[in-house]
Amino acid sequence: NVSLSNTTDEERIVVSIRVRPLNEKEKARHDVSELECVSNNTIRFKNNTVVEQRSLSNDAYTFDKVFGERCSTHQVYEQGIKEVALSVVSGINCSIFAYGQTSSGKTYTMTGITEYAVRDIYDYIGKHKEREFAVKFSAMEIYNEAVRDLLSANATPLRVLDDPEKGTVVEKLTEETLKDKNQLQELLFICAAERTTEETAMNETSSRSHQILRLTVESNPNDYARTARSGTLIASVNFVDLAGSERASQALSAGTRLREGSHINRSLLTLGTVIRKLSKERNGHIPYRDSKLTRILHNSLGGNARTAIICTISPARSQVEQSRNTLFFAGCAK
Ligand code: ADP
Ligand code: MG
Repeated sequence: NVSLSNTTDEERIVVSIRVRPLNEKEKARHDVSELECVSNNTIRFKNNTVVEQRSLSNDAYTFDKVFGERCSTHQVYEQGIKEVALSVVSGINCSIFAYGQTSSGKTYTMTGITEYAVRDIYDYIGKHKEREFAVKFSAMEIYNEAVRDLLSANATPLRVLDDPEKGTVVEKLTEETLKDKNQLQELLFICAAERTTEETAMNETSSRSHQILRLTVESNPNDYARTARSGTLIASVNFVDLAGSERASQALSAGTRLREGSHINRSLLTLGTVIRKLSKERNGHIPYRDSKLTRILHNSLGGNARTAIICTISPARSQVEQSRNTLFFAGCAK
């Protein structure tokens, strides 16, 4: 059961770190694990001298949760993510992000998390007969600031518009009304397959594109006389598999301003700024409008919305620089 009435500002961005095991390639070149999970919320580099120090003076980093190489996606989900995802059934918008360099485990983690969340949302619906639920699904990809509908064969980029009532909307985006959980699983499978094909055909598109899978849950009381407390509740949960952070993270930590035509991913960089401002300077101007990703997620980031970020990292010594950048990003979100 989820109770979210006492959510405080502090709890709005949950930051988890997940270290994947060394992969075969890394092992083949005799790479070794350089990261050590000191406790369930602290991680540290074993050898402090390998790379230059960034702005964090200490080499141990503390977050909401740190998951080591042996932890399962289910553990990652249960400890911190589940509560955020399930807030959607109570009418609270939410976003769950996977951030990290290419091949650090974003898609692996996000795929599992989405599956568990879908299962729990449908479990919740099944147990709450006092309300009538309707679930819709949409899926999109942002590549070079162009938005594409993953549920449509039409490759024409979609426009992002400001609707006076609904806020930001993606024009003509397909929204499938779901009959049941099985239909959703089919759609998730199609989206995953679509992305994989693209990856091989277009030379690593997925490392430069963001994928957003969105479930919108609407519910109404079945019997108004008995459950007069809450009327219509409607909210979305967004599962966001971000582009690889390898190009943006350095710019982000150096505070580089984004130039037009720059090779840095605008959406990723803007997301970093938005999240940093949401967590550190609550009253300042939040530049949602600077990128497609942050415009699309505007209603599910900040305000009353709940956010979880899972930062995925490789433990390899050869990747320490990238891992440090990812931990720096994670620190900004906290
Ligand atoms: P990304 O989406 O960040 O580029 P992937 O999720 O595709 O990375 O992961 C790269 C590879 O590592 C995949 O083969 C994936 O199955 C594997 N992998 C990632 N994370 C884990 C993990 N925690 N445990 C086992 N294998 C993992
Ligand atoms: Mg991926």
